Amino acid sequence: MIVLAREYACKKCKALTTGKMCPVCKSTELSKDWFGIMLILHPEKSKVAATLEITVPHKYALKVT
Ligand SMILES: [Zn+2]
Repeated sequence: MIVLAREYACKKCKALTTGKMCPVCKSTELSKDWFGIMLILHPEKSKVAATLEITVPHKYALKVT
């Protein structure tokens, strides 16, 4: 997957966005410092999503600093 340098990661739920607000939790606390990408398409079937408490299908950062 291509990483877009201008994407921001939400500090609360780690969702990636190119906008100024998190599309998942509506937080505006975004960080440029993140790495790794997880594409969660079916959170109800994903153990990773369950661990991270992700319920909305989206693209997430693995780590946000
Ligand atoms: Zn968020």
